[in-house]
Amino acid sequence: MKDDAATKKFTGSFTQQEPIPEEAIHAATEVLRHGRLHRYNLNPGEDGETAQLEREFSDYLGAQYVLAVTSGGYALATALRALGVHPGDKILTNAFTLAPVPGAIAAVGAQPVFVETTEALTIDLNDLAAKAAETGATVLMLSHMRGHQPDMDRLMQIAGDAGLKVVEDCAHTMGGMASGERSGRHGTVACYSTQTYKHMNSGEGGFLATDDADIAAKATLLSGSYMLYDRHGAGPDAQAFEPYRDTTPNVSGRMDNLRAAILRPQLASLPDRVARWAVLHDAMEAALRDVPAIRLIERDPALVRVGSSFQFLLPRKSGDWMTNFVARCASRGVELKWFGAARAKGFTSSYKNWAYAGAHNMPGTDRVLAGLLDMRLPLTFSVDECKLIADIIVSEAKA
Ligand SMILES: *Cc1c(COP(=O)(O)O)cnc(C)c1O
Repeated sequence: MKDDAATKKFTGSFTQQEPIPEEAIHAATEVLRHGRLHRYNLNPGEDGETAQLEREFSDYLGAQYVLAVTSGGYALATALRALGVHPGDKILTNAFTLAPVPGAIAAVGAQPVFVETTEALTIDLNDLAAKAAETGATVLMLSHMRGHQPDMDRLMQIAGDAGLKVVEDCAHTMGGMASGERSGRHGTVACYSTQTYKHMNSGEGGFLATDDADIAAKATLLSGSYMLYDRHGAGPDAQAFEPYRDTTPNVSGRMDNLRAAILRPQLASLPDRVARWAVLHDAMEAALRDVPAIRLIERDPALVRVGSSFQFLLPRKSGDWMTNFVARCASRGVELKWFGAARAKGFTSSYKNWAYAGAHNMPGTDRVLAGLLDMRLPLTFSVDECKLIADIIVSEAKA
């Protein structure tokens, strides 16, 4: 009997993450039993789960200050507020990113100015320098979309020359490295997400990390600290809060002890998960390499990419062909997202779909996105399943 490459099907789920570890379930149950879920609801002398998580994440990153919050998007908007962004300000950001990034810019009434995308799916550094000069913007919200990071040394050089403060969106690089440092350690502020589809899972959640005491103090007050900022795990001294405590609004977005309890064991095992993602990502890459129709995304070998998703390019195909290809793969159980579609679909959208941000002309990004396909690689997949998925993609790409 022939094992037909043209009919094999994949039956797994692209959105099924691993279960929450037993240790985290136990820690969460403890919090539920004592009932002190609010981060400031502590017994005398008690070190709450949220404060401990902040300390552990700051140790992990090597960042001075860490604030745990309700979401990655909240961390991004809070970073902008703490940097003193005003309504109407122009904020440079990637044209290729996810909706919460321009959303965070819109949340503070600022205006995104999109920067072009390279074939490596990173921000185009020439366009960045040009747009910084053209707009006089003072903030770059740099999204490490799908784990791809530019040459961070060069980027920081350009940002320094242009007087840009950099906020790094590390929703897809938590656990990754760039230029020998943990992702997020180059800019002034870094933001992370612990939403279910990212690299640690508390349903919703996020972090803001910085070495700047003023930004940390403002962000903490913004998150709704009710002058209880001495109960933080990795915050600045009380003195840093003095200039801001009476002038900073409360825009509640605190993390709670239940989520923190779920996250602490996952932080401890993050390096292990990053290693397991690398195995899956490498298997997919090996299986799709040397297929003439498929172009893999170049990446700097010195960069530690978290392989929680996989991207590839099918250049020079028509829109109809791509729509068809995605449908054929889907009929065989392979869930691909095409970034070139005209309308936003599920999590997949692009700068064209964010009408509130105004109309922009981004021919370089259009060219890349027209051929860009994307899939999740949850840790519930095995290497053999990655190979099966790759076989299906290869057979349909030839069709
Ligand atoms: C998920 C995501 C965010 C924000 O995360 P939430 O926690 O869902 O608000 C930011 N940037 C990117 C690229 C993301 O994928």
